[in-house]
Amino acid sequence: MIQTEDMEFAPRVVSPENSPEDGDAEITLRPQTLNEYIGQDKVKENLAIYIEAAKRRCEPLDHVLLYGPPGLGKTTLSAIIAHELGVNLRVTTGPAIEKPGDLVSLLTSLSDNDVLFIDEIHRLSRAVEEILYPALEDRVIDIIIGKGPSARSIRMDLKPFTLIGATTRAGQLSAPLRDRFGVIQRLELYSPEQLTDIVRRSAMILGIPCEADGAAEIAGRARGTPRIANRLLKRVRDFADVMGNGQITKQIASIALSRLEIDALGLDSLDRRMLDMIIRGYGGGPVGLETLASAIGEESVTLEDVCEPFLMQLGFLGRTPRGRCATKLAYEHLGYKFTDTAQSDDGQMTF
Ligand code: ADP
Repeated sequence: MIQTEDMEFAPRVVSPENSPEDGDAEITLRPQTLNEYIGQDKVKENLAIYIEAAKRRCEPLDHVLLYGPPGLGKTTLSAIIAHELGVNLRVTTGPAIEKPGDLVSLLTSLSDNDVLFIDEIHRLSRAVEEILYPALEDRVIDIIIGKGPSARSIRMDLKPFTLIGATTRAGQLSAPLRDRFGVIQRLELYSPEQLTDIVRRSAMILGIPCEADGAAEIAGRARGTPRIANRLLKRVRDFADVMGNGQITKQIASIALSRLEIDALGLDSLDRRMLDMIIRGYGGGPVGLETLASAIGEESVTLEDVCEPFLMQLGFLGRTPRGRCATKLAYEHLGYKFTDTAQSDDGQMTF
């Protein structure tokens, strides 16, 4: 059983955030088992062992923290974990749990060994987090009844459960919360080969005829993210239906993706605007994130969570203690001549 209590809206075609246009396909396309889940081999191998061990001991799985950029499969993985354990899954998000009482009612409604998934767990309020500590450690919650001098605290036992927390920002998690997760796993951006497999699998499920080259073309421009690969597949299908015979070929995919302003490496107009501003506005950098964000009229969190992981993976963006720098590769990709005077005095770039 999956219950979703919060969703986010994001307008870019290559936004890795969940958007209304993903619709029901997101659910249809979700792999149900670890075997069906493509890539993230290390994470899968570890989880398979922990799940098997928990099942043999008839105990709940230890609490799990999954972190990494949006759209990489954290929600999917938590549903798989619940499925493999043979228990129910409750899905919610940090901002949806407004008051301690909301969390108390969630926790007390769980059955034995159920999985509670909290997306964006770094956004839990301090008051809610404090309820979570004893719940995670000792399976109890302390409820305050009454107000003022007559207030008293009652301790309630909880059924055994597993919390799976997901976050794009592990660094923003408070240390006491992070320490209460027994299993901490980072999800990586996917390779083009893995994304090709994901596109082919999705095309098969959706009944879209798709040639291997066509799938590879989409995968190569999906910035390492399955959610984007699936969304591009659906957009390219529209072009294939209208411009061809419905079959996704390399040529149709390439035309469609260019029309969507996604270039050969998967950069969209925001990525290019960001790099362009660093290069032309700030001599290649370093430039602080906030300055950069306001210069191009974008939220700094979008640049940090969405553009940067991908641009850094491509080797287009570096971070120095004084800000972001465009690399030689970025200059070349955007058709500018690289000069060493950019980023001169600031020393090391970190990737
Ligand atoms: P997150 O929670 O990290 O934002 P999701 O779990 O919602 O990401 O995944 C987004 C979509 O990408 C899902 O609908 C699913 O179809 C697809 N997906 C994610 N990871 C995989 C994978 N490893 N194999 C196949 N499809 C995947």
